Amino acid sequence: MKVYFDNSATTRVDPQVLEAMLPFFRERYGNASSLHQFGKEAYAAVQAARERVADAMGAHKDEIIFTSGGTESDNIAIQGFAYANREKGNHIITSTIEHHAVLHTCQFLESQGFRVTYLPVNEDGLVSVTALEEAMDRDTILVTIIAANNEIGTLQPVRKIGEIARESGAAFHTDAVQAFTKMPLNVDNDNIDVLSISAHKFHGPKGVGALYVRNGLRIRPLMYGGGHEKGLRSSTENVSGIVGMGKAVDIAIETMGNDVETMKSLRDEVIDGVLNGVTGSHLNGHREKRLCNNAHFRFDFIDGESLVLELDEAGIAASTGSACSTKSRDPSHVLTAIGLKPEFARGSLRVSLSRMSTSEETDYFLKEIPGAVGKLRSISPLTSWE
Ligand SMILES: *Cc1c(COP(=O)(O)O)cnc(C)c1O
Repeated sequence: MKVYFDNSATTRVDPQVLEAMLPFFRERYGNASSLHQFGKEAYAAVQAARERVADAMGAHKDEIIFTSGGTESDNIAIQGFAYANREKGNHIITSTIEHHAVLHTCQFLESQGFRVTYLPVNEDGLVSVTALEEAMDRDTILVTIIAANNEIGTLQPVRKIGEIARESGAAFHTDAVQAFTKMPLNVDNDNIDVLSISAHKFHGPKGVGALYVRNGLRIRPLMYGGGHEKGLRSSTENVSGIVGMGKAVDIAIETMGNDVETMKSLRDEVIDGVLNGVTGSHLNGHREKRLCNNAHFRFDFIDGESLVLELDEAGIAASTGSACSTKSRDPSHVLTAIGLKPEFARGSLRVSLSRMSTSEETDYFLKEIPGAVGKLRSISPLTSWE
């Protein structure tokens, strides 16, 4: 059996998405800026996708900028906003559990003279609203907090954070790459000014994303060129990718209610099954305020990477946490931020489901996991961390 439980890293492209994209490679290959029929067709397809993305978050279609993915959206949002609004203030507030696309961008801005506050989180990964209120000052121009964490799945109180930012006249950006289509998001109700998404996290193609920018906000582009996407993102539109993202949004939004409930119940089976079936196992992140598709564990006295490889032998694809931190031996900054000592952070496993996941797959995983953990513990017979 082959089981793919690494959907927070990337997802399978929905076959209907692929079908929707193919004509834009084959026959309808025009440049969306061209005046002829080919160009008009491409332009219409891009605009239709823009409307779908906008509708899905309660935005206007002229507030959507297409980008190359979540990383670029985060960079335009944060760097672009910071540079365009520097005369208003130089203070940015973020959290210690952001994706690297946000964290490293903020660190770069510090090197450029901006002041950045990294809000701590509690043991569940929740940002304190009081700490945010205290950190806001007259120089604060931007608050950027991840909506749903990509490692431990914790959901932040987005609406409240946006409200606090707005009261002080700061803008609120959220990296919603994991959250989008996994929970209701509405830029007006949730007080969001700028929001990042990425198609490959919801069964669309890789290399295409979007940025919502509230009308009237000033953002400076990071690249100069032909002035596409309201001048914020020059370069010929990735028409097939954009069409694919539009289709992926359509499918996701149409079935979201049911899918979220199904993922939640599978997630809970995985969480309860592991906690009851494997001694020395613990859940990371908040038990309720978590992504519908995320289960993140730590197991005493084993190495998470070894566990990932052991599960891979059984045909199960999972992860230790973020795809980026697995290449380095440093413990994840998210697990450190929730207060785990490095040795405890090391034994972690992330199981991330999708709407394509089934109970046969979770049953198989729950059958395999106790043996995999037991085997690793018997190979390296630690009864405590050294
Ligand atoms: C995957 C991810 C990103 C990066 O998106 P790309 O499209 O891969 O650049 C950013 N933020 C979060 C929370 C993510 O999960």
